[in-house]
Amino acid sequence: MASPLSNEFVLPTNKAIGASSHPEPDSICTYLCGNSLGPLSKRSKALVEQELNAWGTCAVTGHFSTHPYGRGWVDFCDHITPLFAELVGAQEKEVACMGTLTANLHLMMDSFYKPTPERYKILLAPTFLPLAHGLDPAKAVLEMSPRPGEYILREQDILDIIAREGASIALVIFSGVQYYTGQWFPMQSITRAAQAQGCVCGWDLAHAVGNVPLSLHDWGVDFAVWCTYKYVNAGPGSIAGLYVHEKWKETELPKFAGWWGHDPATRFAMPPKFSPIEGAQGFQQSNPSILASASLLGSLQIFKEAGMMQPLRERSVQLTAALEKLLMQSKYFVPVDEASTRQSDTPAFTIITPIDPNSRGAQLSLLFLPSGVMQSVHDALTSLGVIGDERKPDVIRLAPAPLFNTLEDCKQGALSLERVFDNLA
Ligand SMILES: *Cc1c(COP(=O)(O)O)cnc(C)c1O
Repeated sequence: MASPLSNEFVLPTNKAIGASSHPEPDSICTYLCGNSLGPLSKRSKALVEQELNAWGTCAVTGHFSTHPYGRGWVDFCDHITPLFAELVGAQEKEVACMGTLTANLHLMMDSFYKPTPERYKILLAPTFLPLAHGLDPAKAVLEMSPRPGEYILREQDILDIIAREGASIALVIFSGVQYYTGQWFPMQSITRAAQAQGCVCGWDLAHAVGNVPLSLHDWGVDFAVWCTYKYVNAGPGSIAGLYVHEKWKETELPKFAGWWGHDPATRFAMPPKFSPIEGAQGFQQSNPSILASASLLGSLQIFKEAGMMQPLRERSVQLTAALEKLLMQSKYFVPVDEASTRQSDTPAFTIITPIDPNSRGAQLSLLFLPSGVMQSVHDALTSLGVIGDERKPDVIRLAPAPLFNTLEDCKQGALSLERVFDNLA
């Protein structure tokens, strides 16, 4: 297995995360939570410090060529867009570094959701998508759920509903990787099926970006949004991303105009007529946070150094398979198809993430039985120095992230879980 870039990251110690039962308080904890908040990279820290320094030495002139590190703030994001484009499989003009995931999703809904009396529905996978836009959710929203007793959506069920309801669907919005189950949807096949029915197809890539390889342009995806603090490791609340396929020309897309989306050649003249930058960057409204963008640039440079998603994905598949194998050897593991009918109240767990590596990213979602034991398992794992991510009511997500996690982390995670169960029994 290729070596990780763990040395590029600053990971918390057992003491810092409150692992009271760990015998070595000063050693690094087992951090299997990069799907929720990626750790600090040394590169991000250095670049943020440089920007603080630039601000302190140049103040307003740092916007331009006097910037001491040659990254004038007016076009700071020009350093980010090539890396974003590579990460999501798009052209540079199809991506923008801006805003936050939810705000960007609303911008995309505003531009792409154009209901007519015949075509007005939105097809969703279970997500947190906030529904505004004056919709009557009972009529306009088709939210798919897994079949009774199942946890993941079947591809055929998704394609069937698109075929059946397609003529009344305006917009199909799915998560690339579902946050709860870790299911990676067949993005190309869903996009194609939706577009064949005349629907627009957009993706929420919160849990997919930096986790699985993406080819948004080649798959013909209409639009996508993502945050950068999960697998991309850019820091809490960091600046987000947006993608719009080049086939969408400016004139077809109404948008909220903002001066930062205006052609840079005349931006500072502030002419009365809005002339947007061609492509995704025309959606920019405000000048970007440079401290957040510097942190993002640092973390993207590490992806570049790792060779971007192909080698990382190979490592990720191996790590997740290794963790899965160790977990399935546990005496407390029950197969997923027995979980929903299980009567016993002895504590146990199953894995609800798809078994097929092509239908998942790094994350495994462990479902604890009977309902209610998850919280005590989670707290006990933390006290042993293992950070996973709880999802109420009954799930803990463990994600070995290929940039910094190791086989040793997978072993520690599985071993600690076994100890926690032994103590529960
Ligand atoms: C993480 C996540 C978000 C977070 O949205 P923000 O606007 O960044 O706060 C939204 N949707 C999904 C599916 C997520 O996993």
